[in-house]
Amino acid sequence: MKISRLKKSHKILQYFATNFNYREPYQVLIDATFCQAALQNKIIIEEQLKKYFQTQIKLLTTQCIILEAESLGAPLTGATKIVKKFHVHKCGHEGKPVTAAECIKSMTKDSRYIVATQDRTLQDRLRKVPGRCLLYLHKATPVLEEPSNASKKYVSKKSKDLLPAKIGEKIDHMKQTQGLKSSTGKEETSKKKHKGPKNPNPLSCKKSKKQKVQTTQSVHKNDKNTKLNLNAKSKTLMKPKRKRIKIPNHVKEIVKK
Ligand SMILES: [Zn+2]
Repeated sequence: MKISRLKKSHKILQYFATNFNYREPYQVLIDATFCQAALQNKIIIEEQLKKYFQTQIKLLTTQCIILEAESLGAPLTGATKIVKKFHVHKCGHEGKPVTAAECIKSMTKDSRYIVATQDRTLQDRLRKVPGRCLLYLHKATPVLEEPSNASKKYVSKKSKDLLPAKIGEKIDHMKQTQGLKSSTGKEETSKKKHKGPKNPNPLSCKKSKKQKVQTTQSVHKNDKNTKLNLNAKSKTLMKPKRKRIKIPNHVKEIVKK
């Protein structure tokens, strides 16, 4: 597997770990549609996912998922066999099963599961809820989906809320006492925030190649006036001559030795 893909999946997992308390071993909740796609693409789920995540994962399913797959009969026989192999997690619907989609939705309410499904409707519904993590198969390749917009919005709002007014005031007070902020409220550090290229130190600058080329080209035109003008111009562009320090001969001799 490409390293970049591994990096990407780890980055996404990290996001869910940091912002939504996902923890190792990551629990992957698998439904029959995912198994069906794996079967069609001739991949072994466990092998592929272990390769893909390269971290501790736990594959599981629920009774509701199995019952729904069984009820669909022949077209899903293979997928049903596969899904039954995973650890069956208690879902709270024992004795009164619900649809696989409903079950998964209720499961993800309280616990952190990476939902492995090809069910587009279910994916859409889960994307609308912050903190839901989706895995699907693109042909034979597992893809951990980037956090949904709902997740991103939630996280950015949460990070803003984490800085309530009181803490903000405290920070202001600390800044003032540290002399970072004037009493007018204007931050003196704001000047430092300036980004973008700084003006180069004129003393340490070489003349740019462009300038050199221009000068030589125009000189070739051999017009005396322009030559003079250019000389005047380039003189202003040139760095000031450095004062030469005369080294006395006896010192030179010592240095040579
Ligand atoms: Zn259930």
